[in-house]
Amino acid sequence: MADSQSSSKTKIHPKDISRILKKCNWCLKDEVKGEPPFKACSKCRATIYCGRECQVKAWSLHKTNCQNTAKMYEQFEGEPEAYKKFKEFKEWHVKHNQEISHAAICGLQLDSCLEDIDKQVFVMVIKRTPGPKVPYSERFQVHYCMNTGIDHCKKQLGPEADQIFEHLAATNAAYKKKKGFMGCVGCLLRYDGFSDLVLVKVPEMTSLKSRMYVWDWRANPVRGLNNALKSGLKIPDPLTAPFHFATVDENGQVVPAETKPVQFEQGTVIDVGKMVLSAGGTAEDINDIDLNRLPRNL
Ligand SMILES: [Zn+2]
Ligand SMILES: [Zn+2]
Repeated sequence: MADSQSSSKTKIHPKDISRILKKCNWCLKDEVKGEPPFKACSKCRATIYCGRECQVKAWSLHKTNCQNTAKMYEQFEGEPEAYKKFKEFKEWHVKHNQEISHAAICGLQLDSCLEDIDKQVFVMVIKRTPGPKVPYSERFQVHYCMNTGIDHCKKQLGPEADQIFEHLAATNAAYKKKKGFMGCVGCLLRYDGFSDLVLVKVPEMTSLKSRMYVWDWRANPVRGLNNALKSGLKIPDPLTAPFHFATVDENGQVVPAETKPVQFEQGTVIDVGKMVLSAGGTAEDINDIDLNRLPRNL
């Protein structure tokens, strides 16, 4: 099929989780309460559009993922209980996509091991939090995580998963060419017999290092992510909310964005819990961090 060849040339707009987020898959407009809901793609039922025009524009990029998603849902036919379980899990991880992505970036240490974008997959084993009335945000927890080779991962999952990894490779190639990004890496979520691959878009190095400085989960991505999920910390999406503390000048020097200094010792690892308390967890507040105090290796 010509699909995979043409995908690297097409405009990047991989928002195939739009139904869960209630956003148009192309123009990103939000559904409005009280107005008729957006119509879903008739094939995968996973993406929604504000109108026909947006659906047509999104199709070339959505096509491959549409097939994969439709196939995935076919597997649940005649198994309503399993479907319900998977749906709940999927909704949860889509809503926490940015936090999960950040944990994968930290876990793979992409600030120093860039080749891992092509070779490694970050695997997270997720567990349901026991108990009848667990609040939504705490319903799932990361049990453990590890880095593994992409080939090993493919072998484990078998030929069923080939298309998904092809889609990952195509997205990675496309993001390597996209301004503001360095590529795309896979994060495989395992939950009670289900596997779901999250495509983690890796922002350019300055942005990545800034994020890793503020939310330094390298030593323990599981703890960082679980803390963030518990506290409701939201990491901004680089695609819709570019998050740049700084730029790099022609000599390769980091030029700080306009900031008000806050009291952090040089090299301080900011605990997610404290960050939430002191900064409220919003990008605006986190912008207050003085870049002159960033560690020297930035
Ligand atoms: Zn639209
Ligand atoms: Zn579709």
